[in-house]
Amino acid sequence: MINKKRFIDTAELLVKVNYGKTLAKATPPEKYYAISRAILEQLIENWSGTTEAYSLGKEAYYLSAEFLMGRAFSNNLINLGIYNDIQDYLKEINIDINAIEEAEADAALGNGGLGRLAACFLDSCATLNFPVTGYGIYYNYGIFKQTFSDGFQIEEADTWLKDGNPWGIRKEGESVVVEFSDQRVRAVPYDLPIVGYETKNINTLRLWQAEALEDFNYTLFNDQKYHEAVAEKNRAEDISRVLYPNDSTEEGKILRLKQQYFFVSASLKDIVKKYKRTKGDDFSQFHLNTAIQLNDTHPVVAIPELLRILMEEDLSFKVAWGICQKTFAYTNHTILAEALEQWDCGLFERILPRIYSTIKLIDKELLKDLSSMGYPSEKIKDMQIISNNRIRMAFLAIYGNHTTNGVAALHTEILKNQELSNWYNLYPERFQNKTNGITPRRWLALSNRELTQFIISLMGDSNWLKDLERLKSLETLKNHEDILDAFMEIKEDKKRQLSEYILQEEGIGIDTNFIFDIQIKRLHEYKRQLLNAFHILDLYYRIKENPKMDLAPRAFIFGAKAAPGYFRAKGIIKFINEIAGLINNDPEVQDKLRVVFVQNYRVTYAEKLFPAADVSEQISTAGKEASGTGNMKFMLNGTPTLGTPDGANVEIVEEAGEDNNFIFGARVEELDEIKDTYDPIYFYENVQGLKRVVDSLIDGTFDDGGTGMFLELYNSLLKGASWHSPDHYFILKDFDDYRRAQMDIDKDFRNKRGWAKKCWINLCNAGKFSSDRTIREYARDIWNIREVTI
Ligand SMILES: *Cc1c(COP(=O)(O)O)cnc(C)c1O
Repeated sequence: MINKKRFIDTAELLVKVNYGKTLAKATPPEKYYAISRAILEQLIENWSGTTEAYSLGKEAYYLSAEFLMGRAFSNNLINLGIYNDIQDYLKEINIDINAIEEAEADAALGNGGLGRLAACFLDSCATLNFPVTGYGIYYNYGIFKQTFSDGFQIEEADTWLKDGNPWGIRKEGESVVVEFSDQRVRAVPYDLPIVGYETKNINTLRLWQAEALEDFNYTLFNDQKYHEAVAEKNRAEDISRVLYPNDSTEEGKILRLKQQYFFVSASLKDIVKKYKRTKGDDFSQFHLNTAIQLNDTHPVVAIPELLRILMEEDLSFKVAWGICQKTFAYTNHTILAEALEQWDCGLFERILPRIYSTIKLIDKELLKDLSSMGYPSEKIKDMQIISNNRIRMAFLAIYGNHTTNGVAALHTEILKNQELSNWYNLYPERFQNKTNGITPRRWLALSNRELTQFIISLMGDSNWLKDLERLKSLETLKNHEDILDAFMEIKEDKKRQLSEYILQEEGIGIDTNFIFDIQIKRLHEYKRQLLNAFHILDLYYRIKENPKMDLAPRAFIFGAKAAPGYFRAKGIIKFINEIAGLINNDPEVQDKLRVVFVQNYRVTYAEKLFPAADVSEQISTAGKEASGTGNMKFMLNGTPTLGTPDGANVEIVEEAGEDNNFIFGARVEELDEIKDTYDPIYFYENVQGLKRVVDSLIDGTFDDGGTGMFLELYNSLLKGASWHSPDHYFILKDFDDYRRAQMDIDKDFRNKRGWAKKCWINLCNAGKFSSDRTIREYARDIWNIREVTI
């Protein structure tokens, strides 16, 4: 554990040498830095020991452009089992641990689900003692900070590193050089400890920072060319400067390609260097020693890069290609057409000429393979990696790997039967499903200590936190009144805590008697926040028409960032904020409705929102949400899902039962059938109340400040706009059934006992959705690695 005296002494020493003061006089960020660093100091031995032990056998590497980590401090203390001790030690020197926690900025190096999945996976790998290292980018600025001004989203830079990062250790000596056609830069690794729960193992997240080979050009400086003297430094640092804020949309930008190649090339050089240290130049063992998982297509340039490195080591194309295919695996995260990553050949060749010619070699090999199998030339054209002067990264990934996986059962079936059916027919053995999961340490033990303690008191131990299927044993308590009462009291407590936080942050009060109905996720048309908005407005108008309407009071809570260039998504934020303004300021509905869009939704806000929810909104168009993981966080905190038959919702209902959740809307098969003839006007004109809420976009009910946002939204629904067919995401079609499901909730919620039972059954059946289960499957079915304990 932690040596108390050494801990306090180290913290004192650190504030002294770093800030020239005593702990007592330090500011909260200074205290946070010194205290965290003093804890890290006592972890180094186990950390190095883990690295050492892992290097003796096969290791897996998780390459991801995003890691949405959130805060580290409390998570690390909980996983180390020292939270209470540290809290006591700090109290003795008059430091409130909450003030330390609040001084930490989120490491928000990701957009949404994909980046958060990577973070949950790292937690599970460390907890299960699997030899897995994460590789990514040490972005100077993470996802932007969001505020609202007059209901419009405003973006500001996320300066998460401004007070330093006590958990990051710069490993100068392990820097490597990365080459582009027009520049060479230094990649410097920052290692972050990934502390497992109840284990000594500490895994590593290695994030690369781009720096200039030479900081400063003296000759230019002497010639009084001051800007030019540092230009090269800035150009190098630009590469890891900022995370691209697009979630599920591809943007073919040069800097983005440079980011991808930068971290991939650095990581592979690191991996190969390590391999050569133990195995020398014999690469025949490489794939037996190394597994590399590609998190979506962002790191897929790793495939030609490894091929290139191996060929430079004098391996033939054939041998090197065989090693690549046996080393890589690829996770597909989406079937949205706008997300399919493709690079323009010209742009790609200009920046990465060596990689481009390597991809051409691979594409030629594919042509040969398919021809020899008798594929007709039309079919081959459909499958070529390079087509229409573009490189299709998903095809490169599948051809260059041994396993491609989807992230939920439904999603994997769609990949096999539709999106990637050509590839599935060619390589059926390469396709697997790995349903996503979440770490119960952050999403229960940390974010809901009250419920965790309650479950520990029922279980008699805390081992279930790494064996989550054990929750199932609590289902027999579903009819025990005192158990359900205590459980719902905890929910009430979490609602009160959230309510206080929302009042403080957003200036809006919510009574805990209200149903807390929460939709928190990135803002995207397919996620259908607009459907939720239309329903709220419809409900408002119905109450206005019938003020005596018997209704359980409801607070609709939203949290979402929109990509800065996604005009329509920003229009939806403004629209919801307009609805919130109308409803929250109407005294006639004060006791029935509240609408709050919280600002800057992020991991730390999420930790307060999930435990306080009564209703989990998972209302994406069927077939569009690959898995979802927010849905699992709600479930684990005992919240029923109001959702479509999409992504992991399907499996949630399989586990917890139809009766304990609220499923509505068209299924994938139905939408496939009607999609070419769908006419939203029919629903607009015939569904009771629907025209009224859709027209509010253009009839002067709301003001979009002259931006044209609302008209554009209106047109996207009824006329089609940009590349969309009218109502591309079937909002109008699903509206009526959504409203029906919402009324079911209204009725069921008022049966307190029945509602508590539904919540309880959801919690008890959340075991499948631990990322520990997911990671065990990856380790066994894809990586072929075993636990290593120290
Ligand atoms: C879990 C999580 C997500 C993913 O939410 P979905 O509902 O699955 O899209 C996004 N952002 C944050 C901060 C999260 O914690």
